[in-house]
Amino acid sequence: MYDAPAPQLTEAELRALDAQYCSWGDTVHYLAQPKFFETCEGSYMYDAEGRAYLDLQMWYSTVNFGYRNPRLNAVAHHQLDTLPQIASSHLHREKVELAALIARDAEAKFGAKGRVHFNVGGAQAVEDSLKLVRNASGGKSRMLAFQGSYHGRTLGASSITSSYRYRRRYGHFGDRAHFVEFPYAFRGPKGMSKEEYGEKIVADFARLFESEFHGAYDLKAQESEFAAFYVEPVQGTGGYVVPPLNFFKNLKAVLDQYGIMLAVDEVQMGMYRTGKLWAIEHFGVQPDVMIFGKSVTNGLNPLSGIWAKEAFINPTVFPPGSTHSTFNANPMGTSVALETLRMAMDSDYERSVPEKGAHFLEGLKDLQKRWPQIGDVDGLGLALRCELCETDGFTPDKALMDRMVAEGLKGDLDVDGKKMGLILNVGGYHKNVITLAPSLNITYEEIDLALKLLDTLLRRCVTT
Ligand code: PMP
Repeated sequence: MYDAPAPQLTEAELRALDAQYCSWGDTVHYLAQPKFFETCEGSYMYDAEGRAYLDLQMWYSTVNFGYRNPRLNAVAHHQLDTLPQIASSHLHREKVELAALIARDAEAKFGAKGRVHFNVGGAQAVEDSLKLVRNASGGKSRMLAFQGSYHGRTLGASSITSSYRYRRRYGHFGDRAHFVEFPYAFRGPKGMSKEEYGEKIVADFARLFESEFHGAYDLKAQESEFAAFYVEPVQGTGGYVVPPLNFFKNLKAVLDQYGIMLAVDEVQMGMYRTGKLWAIEHFGVQPDVMIFGKSVTNGLNPLSGIWAKEAFINPTVFPPGSTHSTFNANPMGTSVALETLRMAMDSDYERSVPEKGAHFLEGLKDLQKRWPQIGDVDGLGLALRCELCETDGFTPDKALMDRMVAEGLKGDLDVDGKKMGLILNVGGYHKNVITLAPSLNITYEEIDLALKLLDTLLRRCVTT
């Protein structure tokens, strides 16, 4: 047994060390003083005083199945005691079973044989997919992606991520993607339905291929300049923006016409966040490549990966060593991921997530009726958005968002005679969207508590 030593340093001393020795480049410092936490369980984080903070973002949708999920933690303990380390020149049972489980499920859903390839982080898997689509397209390095997209911050992933903030100072490797407008209906053209807006975007996109002078297509050779279109089925960092349900079908028809692959990034919206294993299942299209990560291990040990159609990933075209990295199919990650998928597939998340999501969204709509500062609420399953604005209900109010994040972390919100905190994540094109990604195991009581805490926070943070 390991007896953890008693803490030697005070919080102030740790902060001083952080300021002196920690790079902040690997963090997301929204606050001048980020908070220390001691423990976590279910939907809650706890500070040193044992105060509970209801978490509505779960490590950016990485802990979909609740903090310290007993079944998944038990697998991690077992793997630690049996085969925690193994070089990737050898095989282990869990890696093979996990790949087969994902590939068979994809074959049943998308009607295509394929294979699975592992790595450790979302951005690394995106990098691997970039190599794969470049190779499969005969070396094309130009990609399409959406405005509002997020695919990671390595140099390659930055080149297909819309925000220039991540490229300023550092540049990027490879060609920067061509960024296409996404049907973000709340800020779209007036007098158009969500569906019409999506259709307009696809029609405008298709015009790119009408003439070689539009910069995308050689009509004589019948060849496009682009290898793949990278899409998030529901935009994550972009603010949990849900496109119309016919959008990707229309887009895919254009991609098929011009020989462009569809690469679906499920890193944030996969693993039942939207009520389906993969969010793209809502939209009736088949990906050529799919990328997953985050909650595939419930955040226990890093694991990510890609699934691709056989023609693009078989060992003849994508041979051993194509993207090898030491930790890629690490046994701690693959064993936990295998159990996570088995657990999730055996559960009734396809029913419970939409039901809980509908209850949460109804509560957000009630809040919206009372708070003109809530410009938009929407969601798919338990991926929900709440867009904060000025009293006109439209002008983005990032300052209000920042105040709510900071006040929630103080842990002094009064509810039913108790003091609590609330953990929120910031997203959106204007950094004014609460992107809500609660545990998929959240109870109805906890959803009602979340709504109460949001109301209390708004009362405290709205300045009139
Ligand atoms: N793709 C999407 C859709 C994401 O949301 C993220 C992370 N937020 C990534 C890729 C990158 O994953 P990671 O942070 O694990 O590199």
